[in-house]
Amino acid sequence: MAFWTKLEAWYNDYGRTLPWRGIDNPYYIWLSEIILQQTRIEQGRDYYLRFIETFPTVADLATASEEQVLRLWQGLGYYSRARNLHAAAQYIMDECGGRFPDTYDGILRLKGVGRYTAAAIASFAYRLPHPVIDGNVYRFISRLRGIATPIATDAAYREFESLLTQLIDRERPDRFNAALMDFGALQCRPQPDCTACPFADECEALRTGRVDMLPVKAPKAKPKDRWFYYFDLRWRKEGVQYGWMHRRTDNDIWRGLFEFDLMETSQELSPDDLNTAIQHFAQEAYHLSPITFHLSPPYLHQLTHRTIHARFIQAELPQEPVSHPADGMAMTARQMNSVPVPRLIDKYLQSL
Ligand code: SF4
Repeated sequence: MAFWTKLEAWYNDYGRTLPWRGIDNPYYIWLSEIILQQTRIEQGRDYYLRFIETFPTVADLATASEEQVLRLWQGLGYYSRARNLHAAAQYIMDECGGRFPDTYDGILRLKGVGRYTAAAIASFAYRLPHPVIDGNVYRFISRLRGIATPIATDAAYREFESLLTQLIDRERPDRFNAALMDFGALQCRPQPDCTACPFADECEALRTGRVDMLPVKAPKAKPKDRWFYYFDLRWRKEGVQYGWMHRRTDNDIWRGLFEFDLMETSQELSPDDLNTAIQHFAQEAYHLSPITFHLSPPYLHQLTHRTIHARFIQAELPQEPVSHPADGMAMTARQMNSVPVPRLIDKYLQSL
């Protein structure tokens, strides 16, 4: 039986119902695809619904402030996705006359959109025959055809794209792609039940006993360790407690999000060295004489390429320091809870 006939029969029985399926609004599809990059469907669904409710059109997203967008994104991680969404919405309004691009190449020009996302939008919104190739598709097709090219490389992408371009249903590429992704996600899972698979009679990995060896993954680099010591200094003015936060502006993780003043070190500090470093920082940055502080328990925050080891240095000051190490603003606890912050800082604030 032809590949698509078999796959479609399976999809008719087991395909997922998702809020962004069966629609052709390119803006909604784009939002869902960006949210779902690096995010599980269960978590992404709520964010998607909140985004389309808060910003029902691309014009609404374009005219929102970056702070509003980041705040709505908070908790999803990979904040560059949110910044790119925002920048791309402004590009659509300013450069495309408010019309979402309707060609694969036009979609690919949007900031933050790669080949996978462009293919998804082109096929779901405009029924253009571009196959989607995500991790689930790599797994299914590499096993089915016994392909051992390391995935997530340029060579693999070209190889899978060429193969799937021959198989795709040119009338209904949207259905084809949805079925392909669902099959990889639900049937050809990392530990699949091959006895229930409609492709068992032609699966190369099953025939050669290589199901758990495919797909071949390129070795991952070990995450780099970073040590963050945050100064959470508080003081009272007219009975209200204030602290200081600034926005991260460097080309680094969490750009655009708020944080406390940071002392970063290249290794973990011993208690004595930490005490010396804190006193030195307090004097240099805030012009404070020796301070009495409380040290929070350690926080471990795992990002894909970084492991963050964080401590929060808490101190009550009689008044606001005369200087701060970075441009920022005095905030009440309530304000701190309303600006976009990394999940690490959010966890800390919630623990107070
Ligand atoms: S037989 Fe097993 S490994 Fe092969 S496609 Fe089906 S589920 Fe995947």
